[in-house]
Amino acid sequence: MKQVTTTVPAPAELGIEVIGVPQGADIDLDLRFEVVTEGVLVSGTASAQLRGQCSRCLDDIEEHASFDVQELFFYPGNEVDEDESVVVDDAIDLEEALRDAVVLELPFTPLCEEDCLGLCPECGANLNDDPEHGHDQAIDPRWQKLAGLGEDETN
Ligand SMILES: [Zn+2]
Ligand SMILES: [Zn+2]
Repeated sequence: MKQVTTTVPAPAELGIEVIGVPQGADIDLDLRFEVVTEGVLVSGTASAQLRGQCSRCLDDIEEHASFDVQELFFYPGNEVDEDESVVVDDAIDLEEALRDAVVLELPFTPLCEEDCLGLCPECGANLNDDPEHGHDQAIDPRWQKLAGLGEDETN
């Protein structure tokens, strides 16, 4: 069994459209390599700084995240499925395992904060900066009456 702690640069496209690890950014790996009957079992964690965009207010997101990595690399000669990993020329390619570990964990709709207020639907202002923001005068009372008439017609 071997314990490896190292830092590697992030490969390209380590993430999804809205959030991910920028290419070349540091990824801290803390991995254990264990020789088992069928191959080499790699387990541990990968941690990195994520960059993305809040899906509500479109602000930049930057946060540190840790991902569990676990992958069995089969020795050549074992029957493996297409999505399983193998040891090639005595080496293992961690990139796919890392990609799986990271991409599957990423949120499809990342938020800068859990209770992010998002943008004003009327003017696009960031409501986190201006929670009192409102458009009370948006519809002139005289027009409101007409709007009401329109509704009656369709009902
Ligand atoms: Zn936000
Ligand atoms: Zn507004």
